[in-house]
Amino acid sequence: MRRLKVKKLRKQQRLSESQEIKLLEQWIDARKPDPGTNPLAIPPPLPTAPVGRMADGVFTPYAGCKLFRQLPISRKTKEGLAPKYMEMSEIQRASLPHSLCGRDILGAAKTGSGKTLAFIIPVVEKLYRARWCPEDGVGSIIISPTKELAGQLFEELKIIGKNHTLSAGLLIGGRKDVDAEKDRVNALNILICTPGRLLQHMNETLNFDCSHLQVLVLDEADRMLDKKFKGELDAIISQLPKRRQTLLFSATQTKSVKDLARLSLKDPEYISVHSESITATPERLKQVAMEVPLDQKLNVLWSFIKSHLRSKMIVFLSTCKQVKFVYEAFKKLRPGIPLKCLHGNMKQNTRMAIYLDFCETTSVLFSTDVASRGLDFPAVDWVIQVDCPEDVAAYIHRVGRTARFASGGNSVLFLSPSEREMLTKLQSAEPKIPIQLRKVKSEKMEQISGSLASVLVKYPEMQQLAKRAFITYVRSINHQKDKEVFDVSKLPLEEYSASLGLPMKPSISSKTQKMKNKKETELKKKQKSEAEDEIQYSDEFKSDVEDGGMKAVAVKMIRGNEENYNVHEEEDNFLVPKKSSVELDKSELTHFPTRILKKKKLKINVHRPVGTRLKYDDDGNEVAPLAAFAIMDSADAVLEPEKVKQRYEKLREDMKQRDKEDKVLQRQRLRDKRTKDKMKLKRWREEEEEFDEDDSGNNAESDVGRNTMMRNSKISFESESDDERKVKKTKGFDTDAISLAEQEALALKLLSSMHYS
Ligand code: ADP
Ligand code: MG
Repeated sequence: MRRLKVKKLRKQQRLSESQEIKLLEQWIDARKPDPGTNPLAIPPPLPTAPVGRMADGVFTPYAGCKLFRQLPISRKTKEGLAPKYMEMSEIQRASLPHSLCGRDILGAAKTGSGKTLAFIIPVVEKLYRARWCPEDGVGSIIISPTKELAGQLFEELKIIGKNHTLSAGLLIGGRKDVDAEKDRVNALNILICTPGRLLQHMNETLNFDCSHLQVLVLDEADRMLDKKFKGELDAIISQLPKRRQTLLFSATQTKSVKDLARLSLKDPEYISVHSESITATPERLKQVAMEVPLDQKLNVLWSFIKSHLRSKMIVFLSTCKQVKFVYEAFKKLRPGIPLKCLHGNMKQNTRMAIYLDFCETTSVLFSTDVASRGLDFPAVDWVIQVDCPEDVAAYIHRVGRTARFASGGNSVLFLSPSEREMLTKLQSAEPKIPIQLRKVKSEKMEQISGSLASVLVKYPEMQQLAKRAFITYVRSINHQKDKEVFDVSKLPLEEYSASLGLPMKPSISSKTQKMKNKKETELKKKQKSEAEDEIQYSDEFKSDVEDGGMKAVAVKMIRGNEENYNVHEEEDNFLVPKKSSVELDKSELTHFPTRILKKKKLKINVHRPVGTRLKYDDDGNEVAPLAAFAIMDSADAVLEPEKVKQRYEKLREDMKQRDKEDKVLQRQRLRDKRTKDKMKLKRWREEEEEFDEDDSGNNAESDVGRNTMMRNSKISFESESDDERKVKKTKGFDTDAISLAEQEALALKLLSSMHYS
């Protein structure tokens, strides 16, 4: 009887679903906007105006409307959107009328403007209207450049799709359960993935079938189409059907016809909602640049953090080793705010745990560009770019981690004197980037190089980290394409090395050194010829530098933003915490090893003669066998065995000495501990005796007292180190379980939610 009732109910649901779908299709078809029109230019209907089919059979227009509920989308999606999402953002208003009627989209809108919903809604709706079910297999693929961003998109999809019966999966690299994924991937309707993992499934999963794909989405499309992902993306696209809808979104969109040709777009709608906007960055974002010599960057960073202890901050550095070093060193100096770090060399579980943790806590996150794109960390107050971004687009994405949606935010860019050209590039970008130059108040600056040197002495492993940070930084500068901004020969390397606390400048591999030497010789030649010219023009040149240059530039910028900024006032208070402008109204990339690279790594040639194996350093440069170890100290040392011997002799001596000191220290510590324990025991006995004396038959009460005391004593002996606590916390986030268990839960939930609302 009950089964019959359920059957009947389901039939009714199916009927009403098919009626809704029919109606939606008629509505979409009847009122589709003309290709090339901008829905934002159409006056919106009143919020109280009727929606859908009117009594006379005519459908209301949906291009130009402001509310999600005025769109021809399913009731299930509307219920997923409400109450969090009621009114559409500009990119959503501009793109949804086109994407809902099946057009290809090339969408550009500022960071934090709501691009995610602009592609998730059409994906869900298309599959819903096609009555897609698990047996139909993969209906949509959404590709993201990073795992964290993919995870975030998956969360958003779960919100929007919670009432639908579609299944979805998160396929990202670094997870061990790839075999479990292989069993299920064909039953998933929407795949949110990173390119490497998708390609792995395409190549390894039996019967993996995406020949019926309906919608392909590339989030951070310009990044996905650049050379880093070229090989993987081309391989993926070659396996997808040509007849499909393609949606591309980013804050900095590619205009390269060649790139777009790879995707075979059909008459795409070019939607750039902020192209007429005066600025390329969110309006509520206050941006400043400061000229900071390379060897002062850590001092300024430290002073900045110390004066903003209540702010949530992301600090961008260029290499994993720098992130690790600055994080570890600052942690040891205890600034008074929790510190975290995120970079591509971390394990997937740890990365995801840190990402989630940073979403929730006011802390400082040191990161490489792995976090620069797409990530929607709530309420970030400051983005600090210690190392210069590689180009204007990278700058826009980094600062885009703050001032998201309706919130405000602040950013500061440290530029060493040789990187000043970047400021000109940012200012002349189209649309503009309203960034103003400020001076660092030197009297408010704390010098930490000495403390860093002590940290390096106290923790020998920090020395290696500092050296690697130094070497990888110099190499990263050397690898940069824009030579107007990045010039190794202009870097004060001795001073920089000292600023990291290193006793002497580490040697850089001969290739980089040669380049630096060559540049230095060229520079000397140039300076010599300029000096000859200078005799005639010296006065003119001087006045140009003092009055023109950066100062004039700053004035230009201030004029553009007169209402918002007062340069002198803010200059004075720069290192002083200001009232956070972030309204707490609501709660991205390094180079992951591609599958191809991984495969190569796994191929071990057992017949290769001993000692001929090639090694690669952090930046992918070939180094001689064992030189990778030697390079830490000095590349030259490999060639001079006598030097190596001496160095090891010295190291051995140092170690012996340190060993001795450690032993003395350890003995002292043990002695102190024993004394402390004895004292405690004595105190406890005395109190115990007092209890026994006081015990007037009220056992329960005395037990409570004793238990409390036992508990107290336990607490005082259980001292957890920071690291232990971190490991425990990390263990708490079972990120493998996050995606798989949640996928399962989602799929089950979706499959079981058959009631029609
Ligand atoms: P983008 O991809 O453009 O950088 P996101 O899609 O990550 O931006 O959205 C940024 C933030 O804005 C997210 O926290 C999201 O929940 C919120 N958001 C997006 N659309 C809306 C909307 N229509 N109403 C309210 N909040 C929104
Ligand atoms: Mg985004």
